[in-house]
Amino acid sequence: MIFRQLFDSISSTYTYIISSGTGREALIIDPVLEKTDQYIQLLTQLDLKLVKVIDTHIHADHISGLAELRDRTKCITIMGEQAPADVVSMHVKDNENISIENIKIKALYTPGHTDDSYSFLMNDRVFTGDTLLIKGTGRTDFQNGNSYDQYHSIFDRLLKLPEETFIYPAHDYKGENVSTIGEEKRFNPRLQVSSSQEYASIMENLNLSNPKMMDIAVPANKKMGLGIKKQKKLNGITFEKLLSLSIKENSILIDLREPIEIERKASIKNSINIPYSDLQSYLKKNNNSLKSKNIIFYCAIGERSSLAVQTSQSYHLNQIYHLIGGINNI
Ligand code: FE
Repeated sequence: MIFRQLFDSISSTYTYIISSGTGREALIIDPVLEKTDQYIQLLTQLDLKLVKVIDTHIHADHISGLAELRDRTKCITIMGEQAPADVVSMHVKDNENISIENIKIKALYTPGHTDDSYSFLMNDRVFTGDTLLIKGTGRTDFQNGNSYDQYHSIFDRLLKLPEETFIYPAHDYKGENVSTIGEEKRFNPRLQVSSSQEYASIMENLNLSNPKMMDIAVPANKKMGLGIKKQKKLNGITFEKLLSLSIKENSILIDLREPIEIERKASIKNSINIPYSDLQSYLKKNNNSLKSKNIIFYCAIGERSSLAVQTSQSYHLNQIYHLIGGINNI
């Protein structure tokens, strides 16, 4: 397995690159915009194909690399369903699995630092975002943070994991890079409490100043999506147009979502399902037969389908359309 922990010294952020091996699919957790070149270089050197990027929550102290990585690699951007970010092309819910080649990561909803905070469990390690830090915990005084929620996320979810589980947080300010559930149970000063009230009173008396980047980073991180205008430009069509076009004999309607999303909201009638990550190989395999067809893509919110239009153009397919705003919008 390939597992890399990278550090941004300006915001003290840890970013993780994960893959099952050279030549395979990769995933990044909590990328920092300014470090994008470094990630791309490492991915190239290790011959990895970036397919998914995750933010554990809306960050207030740095601008996320999600949109830049999406633009440069056409990868899927992922956050929890509570995240108010328009960049997210795929939302996950508590206990759902995110998959890349040979790897499964389970999403755990752990609110408290913010109301959209998730942790991600991968076998022997958990990526705790800003919920549980090494010998600390993420502040709870902005972005709908709540110390009681955080207490429950930590004590009822994270600390219930096996003691030897490694903890990889989104930040560290003291030079530590990894811990375990057992160590944090015993030595994290904020966790030596006997009730949620006691924990909340510690958190309410921290008196921290706001992060320097907060007023820039939070709005920027919420608005990184392609936007309706850009989606329209990329051969975007309305649902009515999709319906009239899809009944034509030479049309093919493609749902780009993953099985977990289709379970939540069924596909449009007569579609075939090609998950976005499999699109390139599908286009390669069926290139000739697709040339004479109207291809209509759709996904959850129109992000992946916009990227799919761009991808298809490089396969010399001409009649390609996609549903503006995705299936969640109809
Ligand atoms: Fe944070």
